[in-house]
Amino acid sequence: MDRTPVHLLFVEDSELDAELSVRALEQGGFDVSWERVQAESDLKQALQSSNPQAVLSDFSMPGFDGIQALRVVREMSPGVPFIFVSGTIGEECAIDAIRLGATDYVLKNNMRRLGTTVRRALSESAERERIRLAEEERARLVKVLEATSDYVGISDPDGKIIYMNEAGRKLTGAPESGDVGKSVIDIYPQWVSERVDGEGQPGAAHPGLWQGESVLLGAGGTQIPVSQVIIAHNGPDGDTRFFSTIARDMRERKAYEARLQHFANYDSLTSLPNRTLLGDRALQAIAHARRSGRPAALLVLNLDRFKLVNESGSHGAGDALLKRVADRLRGVVREGDTIARLGADTFAVLAADLARPDDALAVARKIQEAMSPSFGLEGRDLHVTVSLGASIYPRDGEEFDILLRNAEAAMHRVKAEGRNGFQFYAAAMTREATDRVELENELRLALGRNELEVHYQPQVDLSDGRTVGVEALIRWRHRERGWIPPVQFIPVAEDCDLIHPLGEFALVQSCGQIRAWDQAGLAELRLAVNVSAQQFRSPDFVEAVTRALLATELEPGRLELELTESVLVDNRDEALPILKRLKALGVQIAVDDFGTGYSSLSYLSRLPIDCLKIDRSFVSRVHERGHDAAIAQAVITLAHSLGLRVIAEGVETDAQREFLRSHACNLGQGYLFSRPARPEAIARHVAAGSPRLELDSVV
Ligand code: C2E
Ligand code: MG
Ligand code: MG
Repeated sequence: MDRTPVHLLFVEDSELDAELSVRALEQGGFDVSWERVQAESDLKQALQSSNPQAVLSDFSMPGFDGIQALRVVREMSPGVPFIFVSGTIGEECAIDAIRLGATDYVLKNNMRRLGTTVRRALSESAERERIRLAEEERARLVKVLEATSDYVGISDPDGKIIYMNEAGRKLTGAPESGDVGKSVIDIYPQWVSERVDGEGQPGAAHPGLWQGESVLLGAGGTQIPVSQVIIAHNGPDGDTRFFSTIARDMRERKAYEARLQHFANYDSLTSLPNRTLLGDRALQAIAHARRSGRPAALLVLNLDRFKLVNESGSHGAGDALLKRVADRLRGVVREGDTIARLGADTFAVLAADLARPDDALAVARKIQEAMSPSFGLEGRDLHVTVSLGASIYPRDGEEFDILLRNAEAAMHRVKAEGRNGFQFYAAAMTREATDRVELENELRLALGRNELEVHYQPQVDLSDGRTVGVEALIRWRHRERGWIPPVQFIPVAEDCDLIHPLGEFALVQSCGQIRAWDQAGLAELRLAVNVSAQQFRSPDFVEAVTRALLATELEPGRLELELTESVLVDNRDEALPILKRLKALGVQIAVDDFGTGYSSLSYLSRLPIDCLKIDRSFVSRVHERGHDAAIAQAVITLAHSLGLRVIAEGVETDAQREFLRSHACNLGQGYLFSRPARPEAIARHVAAGSPRLELDSVV
């Protein structure tokens, strides 16, 4: 059997007694090396020089005291077992000795115990040493953890945080020392908590580690982006006992990334988006335009004669000007539009979600206006003009590169033609859009300048030739351009909301006119007034009609509102309640231009309507007795069977009138009876009762 080697120090005055002990130990299975001291100084020296594994001491010696020896050993080698081996130690002394730190005692008359006692003492001291080393190691690790700049925390499966390092405490605002006092719920925003519960911890439990980006709640509740690792510590049964979390504050990195991103997408001088970002935004705008059907415009502008500023001013004057230009541009565009700097003195504006392509002209005008005040630069007043070109999605291109190229081409055309101007890529559009914008501006003024008039066209009972009603038709006498027909300005008015004041004007004016005729004793006439889609759908429309009727005291049954098929059909759910409210007022509803749309008569008949106006395009060909005649005839018959009145529009010849009369069409309206004319002329016409009075017509 292998003997256990052991090195012992005896504090003993008797060499013989020491040998006896050694023998007893050898019998107990030890291979003993030993030395013996009997004075305090020798004891101290031996402890230092030979590192004994245990001290075996007599209790009372002539020159030295066992208790004193114990004190010395405990002081110099606290971990070394100290065993009294004595013949004289009494039970009480022994207990005192143990209290003072002795490991055990063995009586000399019971030496058989010595082997077991030493063995136990050695194993206990080894265990203590192991624990001490482990404790030391733990302390070292904690020191490292405390010193790391990342968050480190350990929590139990219930979420209670049992350790958090200094960085963690600082980050989350936990107390500097003592109880962390936090649970994992406190350190995460709600959504992260859910993610940690649902994904992080299960992921950590199997296979043992989870890594991801998340967010910690900082001291003041700020959200701190972190890259996080969760480690599960499992017990021997496989159940998780603890979770460790290491989290690195990513704020700086995120800010850095954002800065990089910014550099990649923005111009450093003006902080405007650069070409790359403009391209991204254009892609989005194009996708939106495709879905919504609304056009988008890309405008490119270049400063005229920028080189001169750059060369004549001081160094930096050019840059200063560009910054100021960028600022003014920012003030011009709508939210959601993008301004970009494409190159030295070239900028772009992406205007999305336009009502119509022409709106790009309005953007260009705004840019020009924004540039027109002089720029005070280095004590000089600098006037800057710009050359602008625009391309429109989709008509000028369906991709960003093409739109940009075309807008640039238009801009270069402006340069070539003398700078300081604007052009669309599609050359004809520039003129059309300019006209339209001018028309819009002038129409706005026209209302105030009384340039609008209402003319009337008689509606004649075909059975006896009497005028029974009139249609009100609006007219614009432009101070320079003369008469402008409604087909030109009504669509413009519809686009810019002028249709509301304009429609109300026509309504009030014509109702008033009818009343004036009533008072003058003219035959009682029905009044037909045209209503555009925009007007009809405006929330105020029914009120506007009510107001006009009240103001003029016209009996509602004498007012007929003319609506086109598309107004009634395109959005039936929206139209029906409005129609019902109008019917409740007592006014009549006529379907204008019937036959030009695709709606069926049976479909229309389900709406509360009173009258059909057969479109001029059918009427003009009825006498040919062909297809159109058959349709007109069928429409009249069907309309009558549905209880509707029928008016034929655009009756120009006797043959047409005859055809219509013979097919029982109720009413006719057209140049054959009278052109639309001013009220005085119409009054004379009605009074004369003449079915065919030629009048000075205007349009
Ligand atoms: P509409 O309601 O179909 O009006 C009939 C149009 O046909 C009028 O044109 C009239 O002058 C024209 N016309 C009448 N008889 C004949 C004929 O025998 N031969 C030919 N070739 N034409 C004839 P106008 O006045 O130019 O009006 C055009 C359209 O403008 C109208 O079509 C109507 O939709 C709209 N409009 C006119 N006034 C107003 C108004 O006050 N408000 C709204 N919203 N629209 C109006
Ligand atoms: Mg009409
Ligand atoms: Mg019509």
